[in-house]
Amino acid sequence: MAHAEAVRLLLGSDCPVFAPGHVWLAGAGPGDRGHLTLHALCGLIQADVIVYDALVDAGVLDLAPVHAVREFAGKRGGRPSIHQTDITGRLIALARQGRRVLRLKGGDPYVFGRGAEEAVALAEAGVPYRVIPGLTSGLAGLAAAGIPATVRGINQAIVLATGHSAEGEADAIASLDWAALARLDQPIVLYMATRTLDEIAGRLMRAGMPHDMPAAAIAQAASQHQQLRVATLSTLAASLREVPIPTPALIVIGRIVTMRDVLAELAGTLG
Ligand code: SAH
Repeated sequence: MAHAEAVRLLLGSDCPVFAPGHVWLAGAGPGDRGHLTLHALCGLIQADVIVYDALVDAGVLDLAPVHAVREFAGKRGGRPSIHQTDITGRLIALARQGRRVLRLKGGDPYVFGRGAEEAVALAEAGVPYRVIPGLTSGLAGLAAAGIPATVRGINQAIVLATGHSAEGEADAIASLDWAALARLDQPIVLYMATRTLDEIAGRLMRAGMPHDMPAAAIAQAASQHQQLRVATLSTLAASLREVPIPTPALIVIGRIVTMRDVLAELAGTLG
């Protein structure tokens, strides 16, 4: 626990006090543990119990003292995921036992992470909680792959969307106005969409988005296993079917994808 003490000394009063009976709903960022915030680290070194999901890198948990209990709550290896109500029930029960409960999620807890549902459940149960933001994969993962989220002259907005919803994939696709997104002509970052990409790309193209619009998939973004596949709107889904990439993966559709080559070329020229 020497490292926990060192972190505490380093952060001093910047480390908020984790009171017993409280829940911290924290984001661990994407990929490896370098993307944690200092506040999330403060949570890790003070927590009694860490309830973590499948996207949290194992190296993150190693930062917690050995006596902190680690509880997995998420999807693993295609097995059915733990029910959301079981997770919130568990968080509430642990807090009522007077534990310091760190609920740790990949990325940011409030971006497609069901963090809002957990906050509502905690608030309804009268359990005090605090939200610790994290870097969301949809932005930090892009940067890690060399793709800027916004580029002057290319885009004035960026859309973060999901290809999956609580009600299922078909529902997520049906309930979003993809034609409106196509008309916006701004980059779209898709979470949880590798399986639904065919359908989504079809809708965007039928609404007028060019077939040759650059598109990329970024797997295990911001980790040392990161993989990038660059194609176009009309070819990316087939490419991923032929040669699958690992999960988790993001999809990014838009001209910002080409900036990666521009930057790589400049780096080549300079190097
Ligand atoms: N709260 C998370 C998102 C949870 S939804 C966040 O803010 O990042 C889960 C989806 O996030 C995955 O299906 C994938 O699309 C994306 N994702 C999360 N971490 C990722 C990573 N390291 N690399 C690529 N995609 C990631």
